[in-house]
Amino acid sequence: MKKDIKNLNLDELKEYFSTINEPAYRANELFHAIYREKKESFHDITTLPKPLRKTLTNTFYIYAFRLVSKYESKDGSIKYLFQLPDKSLVETVFMHESNQYGKMRNTLCISSSIGCPLRCKFCATGQMGLIRNLATGEIIEQFLQIDKITKINNVVFMGMGEPLLNYESVKKAIEIISDKNGRALGKRKIVISTAGIPGKIYQLTDQISSIRLAISLHAGEQRKRDFLMPGLKEHPLTELRKAINYYTRKTGNTITIEYLLLKEINDTISDVQSLVDFLKRLKFVKVNLIRYNPVPHVKFKVSKKENMFLRSLQKNGVRATLRKSKGPDISAACGQLATKSRK
Ligand code: SF4
Repeated sequence: MKKDIKNLNLDELKEYFSTINEPAYRANELFHAIYREKKESFHDITTLPKPLRKTLTNTFYIYAFRLVSKYESKDGSIKYLFQLPDKSLVETVFMHESNQYGKMRNTLCISSSIGCPLRCKFCATGQMGLIRNLATGEIIEQFLQIDKITKINNVVFMGMGEPLLNYESVKKAIEIISDKNGRALGKRKIVISTAGIPGKIYQLTDQISSIRLAISLHAGEQRKRDFLMPGLKEHPLTELRKAINYYTRKTGNTITIEYLLLKEINDTISDVQSLVDFLKRLKFVKVNLIRYNPVPHVKFKVSKKENMFLRSLQKNGVRATLRKSKGPDISAACGQLATKSRK
């Protein structure tokens, strides 16, 4: 059976080439052709000799996804649903949005697994449970499929799955996408959005410190967080706080705290106070309040108190902004399309 060439980083490609008596520089040429020139077939990589192209064609593939559907939102975001060779479905969302300086940028929201074991109560992906983690090549292919149409400036691991529970594959995908011999997307342009796995935050801080981090908090009080995110009970907020502190102190990067506002669940003035208490004495943090994108068969509703919540945080000296959910008209909350299609 053919293998996915995108599972190999440059060193591994060189190692493979040495086993077939090819010089290491051929690996650089191949890497450049796949990631920079977006070649879709080994036959088209004319910098490589013909016999080598034939060997590669017989051993590996470059692309394997089939586009099942594509939904365009009025706000410009596009949601892609891909089918993988084993018939699993994965979602990838493209967003064209302005940054804090008003400059337009192309951001791609990537999935790291099919389903998710954490089962957060408000999340469509969580309702599936974990089906399987994605391999490095499958994470990269989401990026390449869109990058070959429109140049991507930023990547956010905020699609289906908890990226830190598929740590090695995600880390390797980041190394390959950011490798200067290939696509060379700066690590600072990549954000990992995590529900908060303290041990993995320490590991990531030590191993890929330039990466940016966002934490999905959604409650500053332990009991409420346990209710909303039951899969994280074994990682208490006190431990998460220490890990955030470690990351911000060691990297000097600002961390984003994501807070999904849910009507009468986590949007009261006492919830503001719990969040302020959690953030006390933490340096380099900002809060992103997110408007809820309703999920079918999930009982939560959109909060009407977002302005009150925002102002109260700001009065308490917290840097905070309100972010509208992207693509409410195309089922953009992660996992919604895949769940629908599976059904
Ligand atoms: S919100 Fe994220 S961590 Fe929670 S179930 Fe959904 S994908 Fe998993």
